[in-house]
Amino acid sequence: MSEVVTRFAPSPTGYLHIGGARTALFNWLYARGRGGKFLLRIEDTDRARSTPEATEAILRGLDWLGLDHDGEVISQFDRADRHAEVAHDLLAKGAAYKCFSTQEEIEAFREAARAEGKSTLFQSPRRDADPATHPDAPFVVRLKTAQEGATVIEDEVQGSVTIRNDQLDDMVLLRSDGTPVYMLAVVVDDHDMGVTHVIRGDDHLNNAARQMGIYAAMGWPLPVYAHIPLIHGADGKKLSKRHGALGADEYQKMGYPAAGMRNYLARLGWSHGDDEFFTDAQAKDWFGLDGIGKSPARFDLKKLEN
Ligand code: GLU
Repeated sequence: MSEVVTRFAPSPTGYLHIGGARTALFNWLYARGRGGKFLLRIEDTDRARSTPEATEAILRGLDWLGLDHDGEVISQFDRADRHAEVAHDLLAKGAAYKCFSTQEEIEAFREAARAEGKSTLFQSPRRDADPATHPDAPFVVRLKTAQEGATVIEDEVQGSVTIRNDQLDDMVLLRSDGTPVYMLAVVVDDHDMGVTHVIRGDDHLNNAARQMGIYAAMGWPLPVYAHIPLIHGADGKKLSKRHGALGADEYQKMGYPAAGMRNYLARLGWSHGDDEFFTDAQAKDWFGLDGIGKSPARFDLKKLEN
């Protein structure tokens, strides 16, 4: 079997929160337990929301937790030219097209579709036009999404998840200013970095179906997907500061030992028999995707304190 390569790919818009720390830990355990690599990519393409302070806080949090990564920290923003290159490859292959529709035309299309009770997912009327005859006007590049059939995500945690292709629009790959969208960047980066296993929150499950369209059009092998259920508060609601969930930094300042935090995070959604406490060596040895539950883990401050 080829070497396992996992990655943690946070968006630097805030501190390293419990959910992110757990995702990083699962990826780290999976790689380290198999003699593989654990890579770190900062997804800083959203220039308005990404800050260097957040990147620093995430790096500090990972460092405190002892989650060491292999190689350089990759900045997604720095790779924009490579992302655009792939969009142009897709255009050349006929798997993508230039869409000249204005925002007003797209809105009018949606209005009309709504009125007729049809799908409002947009497809350009020029989807199949001869690329040589294009107008001299601004355009975005869209992926030609399959119209029929279904996309099946074979997920190690969620099982087989089927999404009908007519639920997926022709997504934008390059904006009219030529900048790549996030969805394209993730696929190109994971491919170029040799990522074999994508372990991330299940809020990205729908994205996987769209991302698979890019893999297929490029003829690239798919990574193994494992979408982990999000963490909820003790009340079953989406985890937030209200539940006492803080950034990794803050637990460190409060004097929590990193080893205890790792143990606690590992058990948020992953179980191994009845074992409550384990050493790092045991966690690396025991950790597997089959031990990850399908329902949301509950964050309980009291358990962390014990
Ligand atoms: N940057 C995304 C996030 O922070 C993660 C994307 C991914 O893991 O594919 O939610």
